[in-house]
Amino acid sequence: MSKLTIGLDVPWVASWSTETVTGVGPCPSVDGVLAVGQSEHPGRGEPLYSRNHLFRQRKSVREMRCPMCGEPTRENDRWTQTARWTTAGELRAKGAGPWLPPDMDDDKPLLDAGAVAPMHLTCAERARAECPHLQAMEDHELKAFPGAWIVAALSVEARPGHAVSNVPQRPVAAVTFLQLIGVPDHIPS
Ligand SMILES: [Zn+2]
Repeated sequence: MSKLTIGLDVPWVASWSTETVTGVGPCPSVDGVLAVGQSEHPGRGEPLYSRNHLFRQRKSVREMRCPMCGEPTRENDRWTQTARWTTAGELRAKGAGPWLPPDMDDDKPLLDAGAVAPMHLTCAERARAECPHLQAMEDHELKAFPGAWIVAALSVEARPGHAVSNVPQRPVAAVTFLQLIGVPDHIPS
């Protein structure tokens, strides 16, 4: 077991070197939809800071869990350094159209958090102070995450397990990570 503490030294959402990708199957993190799985051995081996754990990442977005400590965040305590302001039109141009309401105007401002769910303020401040990647970012501002959001699923084409039969199967879409897009009531000044 590693001497590093999850939630302090290593984000809860980060993968560990012993956590291998297991294949495609129905996953509770996305209500039983097919998703790419990963074994769970947090704290064993070496932390892979730049690689999110597939299951914990999806769980963090679906359950609004802080990626640093893994605990749920409350509406008035959700902060993000890495999210960036964009618009519905820009996201549609990048292929996220199917996830956005069709009647949403192209100039609607949205806060794209990518794969990183918002953190508790204390966790976000610690991450900003200690994570070299966050320190290297130009934008050091912690932004309050909006009270409404959209979840988009990023997926890969995969073949389901061959346990069922040896009849060749068509590739299916399997969810990898979830993308979180904040929908503000108004644009913060
Ligand atoms: Zn936290």
